[in-house]
Amino acid sequence: MWNVHGAMSAPPPAPFDPQAFDAHVMSTYARFPIALERGEGCRVWDTTGRSYLDFAAGIATCTLGHAHKNLVEAVTRQIGRLHHVSNLYYIPEQGMLAALLAALGAGERAFFCNSGAEANEAAIKLARKYGRTRLGIERPVVIAAQASFHGRTLATVTATGQAKYQQNFDPLVPGFVHVPFNDATALGEAIVELDRERKQVAAVLLEPLQGEGGIRPGDPAVFRKIRELCDARGILLMFDEVQVGVGRSGKWWGHQHLEVEADVVTLAKGLAGGLPIGAMLCKRSCDVFQPGDHASTFGGNPLACAAALTVLMTIEKDKLVDNARLRGDQLRAGLQALAKSSPGKIAEVRGWGLLLGAELGSTEPRTAADIARAALDAGLLVVPAGPRVVRFVPPLIVTAAEIDEALAVFARVLAG
Ligand SMILES: *Cc1c(COP(=O)(O)O)cnc(C)c1O
Repeated sequence: MWNVHGAMSAPPPAPFDPQAFDAHVMSTYARFPIALERGEGCRVWDTTGRSYLDFAAGIATCTLGHAHKNLVEAVTRQIGRLHHVSNLYYIPEQGMLAALLAALGAGERAFFCNSGAEANEAAIKLARKYGRTRLGIERPVVIAAQASFHGRTLATVTATGQAKYQQNFDPLVPGFVHVPFNDATALGEAIVELDRERKQVAAVLLEPLQGEGGIRPGDPAVFRKIRELCDARGILLMFDEVQVGVGRSGKWWGHQHLEVEADVVTLAKGLAGGLPIGAMLCKRSCDVFQPGDHASTFGGNPLACAAALTVLMTIEKDKLVDNARLRGDQLRAGLQALAKSSPGKIAEVRGWGLLLGAELGSTEPRTAADIARAALDAGLLVVPAGPRVVRFVPPLIVTAAEIDEALAVFARVLAG
């Protein structure tokens, strides 16, 4: 047990005691039964000293892996100088981050917050105000996709097109409609239907690649049609790039794979390499926010922004977008070879760059969670994406040797 008074100096009890943990932490997660205490590059160590190859990366978040020199230096420097002041004052690091994101093509205007859900909340609020003030819509509707994931706050869980996340949280937030993913015809029909009597649709919110929904990439031809549908009616096209953005896909932004422009882009997971940050970016012409419209106490504080700046500059300098593409190609080829050599075990390998999913096949009775557990026992961390898809999202610094190592472990797990 912790001694409250000695907590500053006392190390956590060893060995780690999950029961003591569960005594006071709410049971909102089905946790794997290990506690990680140290990391370096693409490797982490648990409290018993056992090491794992980390292809989970804090759920596609630790862009630069663990204990990266640049990140350690930047965060240490910033916390020693000034870490938080609130948005009552100008924050130079925030301005620099917004300018860098604009230069990289994410969007010209930025609002900073602390998570993916918050970034999407900001996008939904922007869409509603845009709908009311620019399109004259009294009760703006946002259309999202089935099987999507946009977060756990009430509005974003409503935007999320999966009933399992909404169960028991009724009444949900009004103003959301869902259509099948990768289906421009269904989207077009929904817009016509909703706008039949009076215009209602303000925005379409889509992941360029559905992450939690099973690593399902968008189809460029479909997304080009969706872009045209939105343009014809002045509807905002908003991309949730919380998981796919910031280089992971082998391009800076996921929507670059679809070759369509975004009106709004949301980011979070990988942006500050594991420090909490979220961002909602938009074209200058879509920025309808004024003082008082939206706010966040922590959002864009000097510490988070210094971390994000370092992550982006390191990605540029060390060519990590290229690395994500090359190592992603290697991992995909390896997984496809496995699918071939063990028929029925893997039905399909999908994804972009270092955001890949292996959908389990008909001869594999185990769930993705079972496989993730078996992989953990074999020294490899991976993440399920739905019941049948095993997700591989290593840090963008991953090496060719580490990809080979992960593939060898995964082959044993599949065979086992
Ligand atoms: C993880 C995720 C979110 C939610 O992000 P949080 O930081 O957990 O709030 C939203 N959208 C997508 C696509 C995600 O992958």
